[in-house]
Formats: sequence, C-alpha cells, structure tokens
Amino acid sequence: MHREPRWISVFPFAVSVRASAGSPAESVTAAGYRDAPLCLEPEGQLPLLTRAVVQQLGPLLFNQGIGNRHGGIHQGQTSGSTGMPVKYLQTDLTRLFWRVLTLREHLWQGRDFNGKLAAIRSNVERGQAQGWGAATDQVFQTGPAVSLNIREDVAVQLNWLVAEAPEYLLTHPSNLRSLLRLAAAKGVVLPGLQQVRTFGEMLPATTVARCREVWGVGVADIYSSEEIGVIAFQCEEGRYHVQAENLLLEILDAAGEPLPPGQIGRVVITTLHNLAMPLVRYELGDYAAFGEACSCGRSLPVLDRIVGRRRNMIRLPDGTEHWPSFPEDRWAGIAPIRQLQAVQQTLETVALKVVASRPLTPDEIVRLQQTFADMLCFPHRIVVDQVAEIPRQANNKFEDFVSELD
Ligand SMILES: [Zn+2]
Repeated sequence: MHREPRWISVFPFAVSVRASAGSPAESVTAAGYRDAPLCLEPEGQLPLLTRAVVQQLGPLLFNQGIGNRHGGIHQGQTSGSTGMPVKYLQTDLTRLFWRVLTLREHLWQGRDFNGKLAAIRSNVERGQAQGWGAATDQVFQTGPAVSLNIREDVAVQLNWLVAEAPEYLLTHPSNLRSLLRLAAAKGVVLPGLQQVRTFGEMLPATTVARCREVWGVGVADIYSSEEIGVIAFQCEEGRYHVQAENLLLEILDAAGEPLPPGQIGRVVITTLHNLAMPLVRYELGDYAAFGEACSCGRSLPVLDRIVGRRRNMIRLPDGTEHWPSFPEDRWAGIAPIRQLQAVQQTLETVALKVVASRPLTPDEIVRLQQTFADMLCFPHRIVVDQVAEIPRQANNKFEDFVSELD
C-alpha cells in the first residue's frame, strides 16, 4: 500500500544546520535536504540521531547562524542518569513554548491559581516565592510557591509539607511514593491538598491509587526531558496528549518502521522551534505506545503507555524481554521494607536491593524471592541484598528496575 509522506508544514523558516564531517548534519545535507519541507517517512532517509551521537558531538550541533532572531541563547546540560551529559541550547522562543505549555497544563487540569504550590525537586533550595513561576507570573495572579530540595530526608519533607499546607505538590513519582509510605505509616494527612503533579520518571498506576487512598487526591503527570522540554501531559481523562505544536513524536520499531497504536516502540522526536540546536529525529531513549483518540475531544496525538528506557527491561534466558511490573501491594506486606530496587546483573541473576528497618528473617527473604520470581516471570536466581540506602541517580531520579546487561 502506498503511504503518503507526512510533511512537516509547520516549519515557518529554513533550518540552517552547520555541517561537520561525519555528523548528523552532514547526513541531513547528504539526504538532499535543501531548505525544503522535511519528509520524515523512513524512505525520506533522514537518519535517527541517537543520544550517544548528541553526547559525542556536543557543541558541534549548535547552530552558529541563528544570531538573536529567537532572542537570547541559553546553554544547559542534562544531569544524565549514567553520568554522560547531553549539552543543549535553548532560545527565548523555546522557553516561551515551555512556559505556554506549562500554562496549558494548569488550565487543562483546572487548577485554582490562588492555591499554594510546593515543589520538592532537584536544582532548588528551601525557599519561597510570591508566584508559581515564569509560566504564570505574567498572566495570572497566583498564590505563593515554596520549594525544598529532593535530597532532604523524607521525614523532613513530610514535616515541611504539613507546615506549609500546600494545595499542590510537584515532585518525582518515586519521591511521592516514599512520602505516601511514610504518611500512611504515621497517619499524616494534608487536608488542603488538591492534587499532586509528577514529572521526570515513569509514574506507576499503583502510586496514583496509593495517593488517592492516603491523601484522597489525584496525580497529574508530565512527560518531559531537559533537552526537549514538555513532550506530553494528561488531560482530564488522564490520558497523555503529545504537545504537537512544539514537536513531532514518532514511535518506531527496531527496524525504524512506524508502529500503530497499542504497540510499544522507540520514541523519536523532532523539535519544531529550537533553531539554536535543531534535534531532527532524535532518539530520546524512551519507549512508549500511541493510543487511540481520546474521548476528551482534543485531537493532539495520544500516548497510552510510556514504559521507560531499554535499561528498565528484564531479559530472560530465552532471549525475550519485557518491562517488568511489581506493584508495591504485592510485596510491601512481606517485611518492613522502606525502599527496593531490582537489578538484573546477569541473564540468570536478579538482585533485590532492599532497605528495611531491621534485618530480614530467612523466611521473609524466601517469600520475597518467590514473590519476585512470580512477578518478574523470572524463574532463576534472585538474590536479596539488604543495604543501608539506595541512592538516587546523578540526575536525582530513581528507577525501580535497572538492567546491567549490555
Ligand atoms: Zn484527552
């Protein structure tokens, strides 16, 4: 069947990419791109730009010719889960898009701008501000914002939340889970809280359910990346809509073919407005699946599953792979566990790193092994390794499952 190519018609201006030997920019030129609309079909021949290439080329991907046409240029770098940062540029225009989309998310969620917003995240110190931030400050009168660094102890965070009594809490899903665990154990409620907002990690459905149980509020999740900005966020139906005015998102199989809704594949993104550092067919490293149209009526593409990175997949000795799920309610009752991470060390070995409030008994260890063998579909060696703490990654994120294979 002949497929019509999908043209990016939203490029209002020519992209000028400085070509360098062996770079993706050179490939773009070699593919015949000459200030004409880009065709992103596989037969359009534009190669994928991997994270490794972006890391390697760094500033060679910066467009020296942009001048100040999009306002100021701002350089940043991702903190990187594996220590290797991605250097990127933003412009005043891309920052404007980030703010406008953040504002859109507030409006979709129908938030009360009079409320207090509490943020527990990285790159902030304990502090307070008069307004919620750049996305709202010039548009709406808002309540105050308060902030705390995510490296603070969870007990300190919970006491701080009780004292601040915010209407909204912004944090990473893993931090929310730790807060909920402690709040449930101590019977701490936050009466004024209306909603939690999460970002930066995969949000498990069990955390959403737990938040509803413990604090009686819902969770709105934002899918974003430091170098891209806002990618997708949820409507009132709880489904993720790709912010297609700002980027083009493809989901591809291993051979680079586009996948239909329901099938998980590689997330590939083309930013549409960042002319300081154009990312064309950038393979972000995440895996996700498109969904069918949303009943909310919005026509922006829908993502139904965002499952994480390849290193979050478990591989079985028969060669098959899947993203494992081990809901907390299946194992939390076995022992007084405060934190847990599963690490695949070899094809036949998964280590369960466990932080618990006392040494585990032999019986508890066996029950954990049996339960995880069942949940991970992994009938091989499961080692329980009791540790004092499981540190966050360099970028302050936390992954429940990490593979050390490859
Ligand atoms: Zn929707």
